[in-house]
Amino acid sequence: MSGYVSIRNLRKSFGTFEALRGIDLDIGRGEVVCVIGPSGSGKSTLIRCINRLEPFSDESEIRVDDIPVIPGRSLAKVRAEVGMVFQAFNLFPHLTVRENVMLAPRRVRGTSRADAYRQAEMLLARVGIREQADKYPSGLSGGQQQRVAIARALAMEPQVMLFDEPTSALDPEMVGEVLDVMKDLAGTGVTMIVVTHEMGFARQVADRVIFMDSGEVIEAGPPDEIFANPKEARTQNFLKAVL
Ligand code: ADP
Ligand code: MG
Repeated sequence: MSGYVSIRNLRKSFGTFEALRGIDLDIGRGEVVCVIGPSGSGKSTLIRCINRLEPFSDESEIRVDDIPVIPGRSLAKVRAEVGMVFQAFNLFPHLTVRENVMLAPRRVRGTSRADAYRQAEMLLARVGIREQADKYPSGLSGGQQQRVAIARALAMEPQVMLFDEPTSALDPEMVGEVLDVMKDLAGTGVTMIVVTHEMGFARQVADRVIFMDSGEVIEAGPPDEIFANPKEARTQNFLKAVL
């Protein structure tokens, strides 16, 4: 069986600058992949291409559950299957926590109000903030807001979840609560691609770690191998600097 997310010769340029230089990657159903690498190596660009928040070259091919990520009707299908959580929480400030979680199912899916409400209750309980449901985002801590953002993405019942440094904007004492929610999620069979600087999380939760530099995948493998026995000099140097 082919990978749940398959990426072939992914190239992306900004003007004359090549941010991604031919990435090939297959990510299996339910796999948890952590993407690590120095700032500017193309990690965000890579995951933004997966739901085509970033357009990419025609010679490149991305498929999500065998649906090509190309403009038009198939893109809407892909976006319905792929949830994304960003470094900045991007919650709607004028909506309560519960309304934030209910919005996409109501608007995109046409889910009934009662069903969307029940689902929001369930998801907010799952990320541990059911008591905050009637508050506005500004009344929550950063860690709580990011947990709402995860619940909001899960409300569309995505097959694939993309995370772009979800804990980088948080005060240190709130990092753990968000990583705990992501750990729980990793056990549920959803495919996860996580750009992170949290090496402890990558080591503990990832099925595979991918090290990127200068728009290329330099090395990929199980966390034990990458952290204990990196083969490439660039991986070794990066890990020496961050661990
Ligand atoms: P990372 O997430 O690994 O820090 P990015 O994917 O954000 O790296 O960026 C990769 C490279 O592409 C960087 O050199 C960055 O400056 C460049 N880049 C990213 N987005 C843009 C953009 N919208 N316009 C021009 N250059 C960009
Ligand atoms: Mg980035």
